[in-house]
Amino acid sequence: MHYSFNINEGLMNPVIELNEIVLNNKIPNALLFTGNCGQDKKNTAILFAKAINCLSRIPISNSMDSISQVGSYNKMHLSECLPCNSCRSCIKIDSKMHPDIITISSEPEKSVIKIAQIRELFTSTSSKPHEAKMRMVMIEDADTMNQEAANALLKILEEPPEQTFFILLARELNELLPTITSRCRHIRFKPLSQNDLAQKLVKDFNISPSLAKIVSKSSNGNIDKAMMLVNINSKIDWIKRRQWLFNQIIMLIKPNQNNSLKFLYALVLAEKLGKETQLLQDSISLLKICLRDIAIIKTSLEHLDSSCDLEKSILEQLINSEIIVNLDFVNLISDIVVMLPKNYHLMALDAIHKAELKLQTNASARLVLEQFFLSLISLKSLG
Ligand SMILES: [Zn+2]
Repeated sequence: MHYSFNINEGLMNPVIELNEIVLNNKIPNALLFTGNCGQDKKNTAILFAKAINCLSRIPISNSMDSISQVGSYNKMHLSECLPCNSCRSCIKIDSKMHPDIITISSEPEKSVIKIAQIRELFTSTSSKPHEAKMRMVMIEDADTMNQEAANALLKILEEPPEQTFFILLARELNELLPTITSRCRHIRFKPLSQNDLAQKLVKDFNISPSLAKIVSKSSNGNIDKAMMLVNINSKIDWIKRRQWLFNQIIMLIKPNQNNSLKFLYALVLAEKLGKETQLLQDSISLLKICLRDIAIIKTSLEHLDSSCDLEKSILEQLINSEIIVNLDFVNLISDIVVMLPKNYHLMALDAIHKAELKLQTNASARLVLEQFFLSLISLKSLG
């Protein structure tokens, strides 16, 4: 697999900046990439390592295809920093066999980078690189380093090893120690617009345009989250899970059902979701968008009498104005909202907001969710 990829709008500035570094051959000891686009940051780091170590950088005549993707940027310049993808060094890096490309990431179960992982770097970077012009140490999720690991890294950065550069990947600058960030050249990756993100999902990952549109809105332009929601690089089937979550919440909200059964079900659901700690934040954020859609539709239809034609036309307007996120659930939601008590939607949004705040504390997830789900069943009109 090649680590070559489309250079989209969000990547333009980082690529231009890195290109200048390659051209001037003044490689900083440490770079810090921030932004909500893990895969793009990682791909860019690999591309950079390849460009620096490439044994025959691409001649301009052969590179026009890749270069045409970057719009107005000076094509001559960019061509000089593109790796050839076919020399010994490029192939080794692409196949993850290069001995001088070191990657550190958080342990999957614990989501933390430990001091032992950083200590290993003292040994692995103590001598010159095996074959690279410049060795790269890439630290993924650098913001998950615990205090000891961060201090150990600081020691390495204070006396940088020979022919070695570090690239730290993190979401936010302020999630790292200032003593570390001050030693790094910071390169910020901007999020994609929702439209660009949807197009990328369709073009690069063959996702249907309708689903791409929904997840680009649900993820608010966060490419990692959008990819997760369409099951790319995700162990969980989020396409199914999203549908399942919405069906559960709609079942709890729907009036005229057996309330004692719903109470029981709310407890079971709270216990199940409360145990899935890794998925909880994303699950709540999806439910929040679902309740927001319900609130928009409810508010828009609230003052109507029973004129069905008008209801249809208002729904169409809402869909076309792109305010609604979960377009695949509009019909189901609109069937329910007409039955909901007045102001129910506002109280439901308030309830999920409160639940979200409590989940950020040490409160028991199960108890917070129980309270939230039970409130959805018992909320009555404010009058
Ligand atoms: Zn090469």
